[in-house]
Amino acid sequence: MAEPEYEIYAIKYAERVGTRGATFMDGDPHDAPIAMDYFVWVLKSPERNIVVDVGMNRAEGEKRKRTFLRCPIESLKLVGVDPADVEDVVISHMHYDHAGNLELFPKARFHIQDTEMAYVTGRAMTHKRLRHSFCLSDVVQMVTMVYGDRVVFHDGDAKIFPGIDVHAIPGHSRGLQALTVNTARGTVVVASDAAHYYECVTDESLFMTHENLYDLLEGYRKVRRLAPSDDHIIPGHDPEVLKRYPAASAELEGIVARVDVSPRHTA
Ligand SMILES: [Zn+2]
Repeated sequence: MAEPEYEIYAIKYAERVGTRGATFMDGDPHDAPIAMDYFVWVLKSPERNIVVDVGMNRAEGEKRKRTFLRCPIESLKLVGVDPADVEDVVISHMHYDHAGNLELFPKARFHIQDTEMAYVTGRAMTHKRLRHSFCLSDVVQMVTMVYGDRVVFHDGDAKIFPGIDVHAIPGHSRGLQALTVNTARGTVVVASDAAHYYECVTDESLFMTHENLYDLLEGYRKVRRLAPSDDHIIPGHDPEVLKRYPAASAELEGIVARVDVSPRHTA
């Protein structure tokens, strides 16, 4: 039977400007500025709506000096999704900017990799450098969800619904998962932080925050393997996404892009 085709929306909720030297390991002698956008994603079909990541909460974002533009969960309503109705949320990884609003989904189940849960609650977190990108209250919240039967664990690559698979891609975080989603233009890879920017996969620009460099590099390869072309990869933080893809509507220009359709430069 044919797999259902999903619409995919990338919703920007925060931004910051950093430097290339602090963003990529191989740096940049001129230390040029580089913008970073923060997204959540929505997968929509007539059968179901799935949310991918829940963004940071405002307090944590402000503590880290990110420009918080709008509540990522309230923003789901921009694409016709009521967070109160959402039944499934895929958490790509537990970093503060992806897992900061779990409590705003009263009935969702959260899909996470076994390895990510073990990573954020185990020995690795005794290293200050490794726990820097996590927020304790998010981790505690996820443990609470486990005890409330609200977590679905995945061990590596798995089909979670017809047309939607998760893929284990460690490196940035130990249990990171990306998604492949069936759309009208074929398979689209919602890479999340398996590729922060397009250049991570096209030029092997090494993202500074990682737990394993070898896995990070293998992950970039895997993202590319999963996608029919580089135009089918949706990076996790690249401002190019909102430039390359059409807005969901004229009023949502610069806020919400439709990424299940072809990018504008090849359209
Ligand atoms: Zn991130």
